[in-house]
Amino acid sequence: MGGLFSKEELIVDPRQAMAKLPAYMNEKWGINFHWGKTVTEVNGPSVVVSGKKYAADLLFICTGSDFETLYPEHFSKYPLTKCKLQMMRFAMEDRNQRIGPALCGGLSLIHYNSFKSAPSLSLLKQRFSQTLPEYIQWGIHVMVSQNQSGELTIGDSHEYGLSPDPFDKQHINALILEYLHSFSGLNNIRQTESWNGVYAKLSNGEADLFVSPEEGVYIFSATGGAGMTLSFGLAEERVDSILS
Ligand SMILES: Cc1cc2nc3c(=O)[nH]c(=O)nc-3n(C[C@H](O)[C@H](O)[C@H](O)COP(=O)(O)OP(=O)(O)OC[C@H]3O[C@@H](n4cnc5c(N)ncnc54)[C@H](O)[C@@H]3O)c2cc1C
Repeated sequence: MGGLFSKEELIVDPRQAMAKLPAYMNEKWGINFHWGKTVTEVNGPSVVVSGKKYAADLLFICTGSDFETLYPEHFSKYPLTKCKLQMMRFAMEDRNQRIGPALCGGLSLIHYNSFKSAPSLSLLKQRFSQTLPEYIQWGIHVMVSQNQSGELTIGDSHEYGLSPDPFDKQHINALILEYLHSFSGLNNIRQTESWNGVYAKLSNGEADLFVSPEEGVYIFSATGGAGMTLSFGLAEERVDSILS
């Protein structure tokens, strides 16, 4: 048995962050958001948004898992797929109880590229394939983090394919919880929510898709399961590479 601790980790509650970011960006940089509008056409350097044409100097197509609508012929050149993930939220019996840092179990070592340099990884994979075949089949690794209200977010599974079904599979959630209990000792928790989400991913191992289908237009997508973490850094790097 062993463990790793990283004191650099920082937990951001995505629901809170997403709700606050637009106002922050508007205040800091004067960015305007046009909510509830769909981009239906791009003819660099112009773009049609819900029937209205806008001129633009520079266009970034960041359509996430919808890679069928804009530039489908360009997207189809790349090995893109979708990944469906199941997640759950729990309330602690004692709202004031803190679990401390975000936790993950051993399965995460074979999930994230960050651990690829470990020479013993293939042995670990082999061991998990033998002892936890269902976890490998459904791409399950287990992480738990706590938000400021004391709630626990727990996930997740990974099912790949271009047409993910909308249903949560109860047996996957049961496997996630069983594994959670094997390393966390979190008892007295009550499930309040479950959901699934979908992201776009490149199946060639690349971290993101950044291509220019025509002058002044850039497709920036498929950041996979690390987009929340990497997006700010990636965006800075990519935009710098164009402007410099
Ligand atoms: C359940 C789940 C858990 C995750 N956990 C993590 C994690 O722990 N850490 C991490 O780093 N990452 C995580 N991710 C991955 C991360 O969320 C994605 O990598 C990231 O959201 C991708 O960002 P994006 O802006 O490219 O696409 P998205 O976030 O999908 O945003 C694309 C947006 O474009 C809009 N859009 C699409 N087409 C059009 C159009 N024609 N006109 C107008 N708007 C359009 C969509 O409605 C959507 O709002 C998770 C993802 C899921 C689903």
